[in-house]
Amino acid sequence: MKVSKFGGTSMANAEQIRKVCQIITSDPERKIIVVSAPGKRFDKDVKVTDMLIDCADKYLRNKDYETVLSNIVLRFAEIARDLNLDDEVVRDIESNLRTRVVMGFDSDAKFMDRMKAAGEDNAARLVSQYLRKTGHRAHYVNPKDVGLFLSDEYGNARVLPQSFKNLTKLKEIDGIVIFPGFFGYSLSGDVVTFSRGGSDITGSILAAALEVEVYENFTDVDSVFVANPRIIRNPAPISELTYREMRELSYAGFTVLHEETLEPVFQRGIPVNIRNTNNPEAHGTMITPVRSEGFDIPLSGIAGDKGFCSININKYMMNREIGFGRKVLQILEEEFVPFEHMPSGIDDISIIVRNQFLDDGKKSRIMERISKELRVDSISFEYNLALVMVVGEGMKHRIGVTTRVSKALAENAINIRMINQGSSEVSIMFGVNEEDVDRAVIAIYGEFFGETAGK
Ligand code: ASP
Repeated sequence: MKVSKFGGTSMANAEQIRKVCQIITSDPERKIIVVSAPGKRFDKDVKVTDMLIDCADKYLRNKDYETVLSNIVLRFAEIARDLNLDDEVVRDIESNLRTRVVMGFDSDAKFMDRMKAAGEDNAARLVSQYLRKTGHRAHYVNPKDVGLFLSDEYGNARVLPQSFKNLTKLKEIDGIVIFPGFFGYSLSGDVVTFSRGGSDITGSILAAALEVEVYENFTDVDSVFVANPRIIRNPAPISELTYREMRELSYAGFTVLHEETLEPVFQRGIPVNIRNTNNPEAHGTMITPVRSEGFDIPLSGIAGDKGFCSININKYMMNREIGFGRKVLQILEEEFVPFEHMPSGIDDISIIVRNQFLDDGKKSRIMERISKELRVDSISFEYNLALVMVVGEGMKHRIGVTTRVSKALAENAINIRMINQGSSEVSIMFGVNEEDVDRAVIAIYGEFFGETAGK
């Protein structure tokens, strides 16, 4: 049995949904299907999830939400009409949406999640209707009915352990299961969503619970590429990656998979196959626990991500002060600021954090507490930092990778602000100025893949 997940662009209109259904029905192993909400039909289009967020936001601020709501209904109505489904389907979707609005709520976050989840929920209903209309045995399954329970962290939920056992019930359903991605329920019965792009996580949870042979993740690209195709012209495709490589790459800006996707399947060693709805013949990229080939080039991928800040702390004789690092991190912990990297010297330490976790209030509190409580000589916040991650299992025990990367950066006059390599040797982080990040990716790609292929 396979779990197959289809992303937003695969659900964007009737033509795409027909392709999805063709893919589903062409393989009897594809029994558990997870769907996203309709995504963008063209570059400047708006995703249904964004429309739902806009609608919820307007409602919460007592603004006119009716126009957005009608536009959401229209998006679904257009799909339903083009799939030749009955008008009743559209009426059901409209009443589903309106019920969500008027149901009452005790917190804005709960209301927001209930609205956000409507995209996936109605898309799943629509696909199952279409499959039934075209003569297939298909059932929409609501996450509550099979016990997909999540933590009550609205907009950023995590799966609760009991869900895995509960979800084995899906095996007993006869026919194709159409399951909405992106949300589950808290133990108190409220809709809770994962963070954005979280339908990938739903697919992974189902794949793990059912211990399937493969988790297929259908998107709109033929494979994962060595570097971002928006920066590199025709980057090399990757046929096989390990979980660790993919995790490093998605953490550092590869958006093909949500960065939390791999955790459930990782524990059970289930492979993930990234595939293209628009080209189902392509084998895509296989993400597996280990890989045996492809080590002739040490790098598997190069990712670049902006939006970081370095908190630079200096104190004479810092190396002699046992517990200094812990105290700094404790202050960050108390401010709920996660850290990404922590390169250090004898008398200084830099803590790399994402800007999004640092508002002005937090910044000044952290600055004041570190200065006063730890009596440091200086502390500064340095913004404009981008991280370039060079990732590959082939780098382990390989001499000279850093030399080649730094040579490529030097030749392009790019200053390296910091370097960090973990003991696993699967990734090396290079900190550069934000304005240099794309050029850095192009330079490194050229060095290892023999082309200077920047766009
Ligand atoms: N529809 C949700 C989003 O746009 C979840 C997903 O597509 O995976 O974030």
